[in-house]
Amino acid sequence: MNNLLIRLALFFCLLSPVVNAKEAVIDVLSYEISLFVNPTFKQISGSNTISFAILKPGDICVFKLAPQLKLLSISNQVPFQRLQEKLLVSLAPSIKKGDTLSLVFSYEGIPQVAQNAPWDGGFVWQKDSLGNPWIGMACEGIGAHSWLPCKDTWDDEPNQVTFHLSVPKGLMGVSNGRLVQTETKDAISTFTWRVNNPINHYNIAINIGKYAHINDFYTSSNGDTLSLDFYVLESNYNAAKTHFQQSKRMLKAFEHFFGKYPFYEDGYKLVETPYWGMEHQSCIAYGNNYENNNFGFDFIIIHESGHEWFANSLTAQDKADMWIHESFTTYSESLFIEYYYGKLRAMQYLQNQKSKLTNQKPMIGKYGSYHHFTDNDIYYKGAWMLHTLRNMIDNDTLWFNTLRDLNKKFYHQTITSIEVEQFLSERTRLPLAAFFDQYLRNPNIPVLEYFIQERNGLNELHYRLQSNVKGLEMPVLVTLAKDKFDFLSVGSNWKIIDLPYEDVVNFRLDTAKFLVETKLITPKK
Ligand SMILES: [Zn+2]
Repeated sequence: MNNLLIRLALFFCLLSPVVNAKEAVIDVLSYEISLFVNPTFKQISGSNTISFAILKPGDICVFKLAPQLKLLSISNQVPFQRLQEKLLVSLAPSIKKGDTLSLVFSYEGIPQVAQNAPWDGGFVWQKDSLGNPWIGMACEGIGAHSWLPCKDTWDDEPNQVTFHLSVPKGLMGVSNGRLVQTETKDAISTFTWRVNNPINHYNIAINIGKYAHINDFYTSSNGDTLSLDFYVLESNYNAAKTHFQQSKRMLKAFEHFFGKYPFYEDGYKLVETPYWGMEHQSCIAYGNNYENNNFGFDFIIIHESGHEWFANSLTAQDKADMWIHESFTTYSESLFIEYYYGKLRAMQYLQNQKSKLTNQKPMIGKYGSYHHFTDNDIYYKGAWMLHTLRNMIDNDTLWFNTLRDLNKKFYHQTITSIEVEQFLSERTRLPLAAFFDQYLRNPNIPVLEYFIQERNGLNELHYRLQSNVKGLEMPVLVTLAKDKFDFLSVGSNWKIIDLPYEDVVNFRLDTAKFLVETKLITPKK
């Protein structure tokens, strides 16, 4: 064979197992990460021991690692191939269903640098005001394989993560869960953190800085104690001590509405970061300069902590269903206000958000594509969808029991939009399939079309609901008497009801409670 043929033969020999390989289905059990972060060279090096169970045997199992990072080895020379970000690891034919395996992935390199964290993703290499390295990382947008060899899907979470985070002596490394060990050898300090709950991949956190530690606790209504740990830049120690008391107000309100904080074993933690914020489980990234908004609370503390219930305990299986994370969490901000300042103030807050709706794309993205959302409708429109639903139900006891039960039912699970929709339908005993299809799977807001016509001395309201979804019928509040709202069920067919007034300007839909548009039309003669 000539040289080219040899090369071709080798190429096919390497490729063939991939082409015909049957991929095993696996369940990730745990990660044990050892990582040294070198601020001078903006480089990382270490390993991840991935333990997993075989659900369905195959020739290979698939993990991921950003192509720019070098994979040095997998355990004792386990063969693997790289196809872009995919790591195809060969499995021995003797491996069968139910077996558990542990593979050590050793790697190193220069990870992606974030241009605009947390929105794009990557490492943030900053210095604090005293010139000390201050490093953060956020990867919701690009995935954890941007810095870690891992499975990196939303539908499978490791049940335990142990993270040995090594940093130059004098700095501190902070990650999720509890600090179980600290060790300094020569010029390197290693901080070992452990999470004992399922955690989604993008939540595994790296924070490095010259941190001061504030230790506090919160007592729940049934007497349980939750540890609160705040890691802040030394210069902000006093500011944080006062400002982070808000965490307790948050916990009190959200435990009331959604049930107990979902990670008592791992504790609650805020870590000061050189970017705005991120919902890193039991290790929330905080970078909002200790500022409150016009409603008297720190948006980042309240919003990112709300994610502990919606995103971290209840996790979407596919990024396309990310509304589950952001809609409920954005809605939780208004509930925080309602808890402390009343319903009217909460409705003012929601009203402020209404101007941010774009209604250009459905809130559910493309499945299987690690969907990238280009607008904020999953936040504000999603909050308004939930607010509308609450007002349709018109029974706050039922509504809040439903929110609590939702958290109970899907506690620490990965879920789909359909599961959430069906649960809300069943629990509220309302047929909501068409409602969710309209608000989640279509960009448009339904429109109440109407006109008022006099007939035989009576004023008749003619009305119908224009929507994209067949069979959408929903109760809305409209002025059925002058300046008095009452429920009217609106659907796709024209209906008529008598009105005790004639002036069309008196007809209004309660837009403070419903995300429904109105349109006065000219009747056909
Ligand atoms: Zn969020």
